[in-house]
Amino acid sequence: MQSERARSYPFIPAQPLLNIVGGEGDYLITDDGRRILDGAGGAIVNNIGYGRPEIAEAAAASLTGTGYTLPTFATETRLRLIERVTQHWLPDGMTRCMFVTGGSESVDTAVRVARQYQVACGRTSKWKVLGRSTSYHGSTLAALSVGNHDRRRSGMEPMLMDLPKVDLVDADLVIKTIEAEDPDTVSALIMEPVVGAAGAAIVVPDDYWPTLRSYCTDNNIVLIADEVMTGFGRTGTNFGVDHWNVTPDLLVSGKGLGGGYVPIGGLFATDAFVEPLAGQQIMYFTFSGSDVTCAVADKVLQIMQDEHLVERCAEMGERFASMLDERLTDHPHVADIRGMGLMRGIELVRDRSTGASFDGALTPLVVAAALERDTWIYPAGSAGVPDGLLFGPSFAIAESDLERLADVALESIDTAVERFGQL
Ligand code: PLP
Repeated sequence: MQSERARSYPFIPAQPLLNIVGGEGDYLITDDGRRILDGAGGAIVNNIGYGRPEIAEAAAASLTGTGYTLPTFATETRLRLIERVTQHWLPDGMTRCMFVTGGSESVDTAVRVARQYQVACGRTSKWKVLGRSTSYHGSTLAALSVGNHDRRRSGMEPMLMDLPKVDLVDADLVIKTIEAEDPDTVSALIMEPVVGAAGAAIVVPDDYWPTLRSYCTDNNIVLIADEVMTGFGRTGTNFGVDHWNVTPDLLVSGKGLGGGYVPIGGLFATDAFVEPLAGQQIMYFTFSGSDVTCAVADKVLQIMQDEHLVERCAEMGERFASMLDERLTDHPHVADIRGMGLMRGIELVRDRSTGASFDGALTPLVVAAALERDTWIYPAGSAGVPDGLLFGPSFAIAESDLERLADVALESIDTAVERFGQL
């Protein structure tokens, strides 16, 4: 039984789903001794496995130095992380780094920096940031404005910027929307390489990113790749955009950069992008790129390199996709199984032939049924994809655990559908 004490944890008093006392590899350990297979790495952050002692050592070593260093000062740790990221991880040509404290902050900063760039270039009419019809970019007001996760935006609308949304899969339709809007008013286009929380791992056609890359170049629109979920190996390549050999103007990250051990996000750019900004300041957050988060991120990335975990992610991702296909391709409530690397998703529908939906009601039932089987699956979905499941375990996960995850997915969907019928 979870203790009554845990009710004090949620801001609005409630029993938390789990009360965690430890972690090991792909398993979370609860206060009552359960071992939960974490099929989603929490919120798709646990890239290297829980409980790695090297991480604690790196954090401890960093904390014996200065406790706090202003984000504008260089430190040895910050320089090391910049060197690792630019030399081993980022797409060709991306050399400039700024670290923040998470995904939303990196998106929020990118939205501001894109505008700062346009103003610095004398294009003051460009201010709109266009996002896609099914997307999630974070929970600050700017990030909610450029995204379109209806459930997470709900009630906030009067406070959000009213920005147009572009088509999810058809690059020509995206261009049409921008033309209708007037490219001279558009500062940036922000897109996830694989749509995560809002869409349960939607992958776009191969021409989408390259077409929009060249359109943005021709029209002085800043192309922002939101790699908060896809970045640092999750899709089986360093970054999602690597699948299409695209270099964005700005790339934002979070989640896996710190492997879930520390809150860190990053904003990365090309030399050409920062050139017009010479002499300007970009406002930081007080804790942007704190030394301990940089030290830990550097160690996380080193472990991924030493253990070839991105390659393993690609390989295990293919195997996991086959496991899901074997069990679920013909399932009457599975509309699609998709994704890249170890970012896989399932779209659930009420009726495959008509596409009728459960209106978001099935997903929580599946997640609950999986937890009863000591397994965590991440709930995904928004208006475009009302019910979805997202999988994102560590890149070091055992193959037997992937088999179990696929088994639990099937059993939990069946249990959830049965319970839905009884509601
Ligand atoms: N962008 C994407 C693509 C995300 O998936 C998320 C979080 O799920 C965010 C931004 C926001 O990141 P954070 O929750 O760290 O603020």
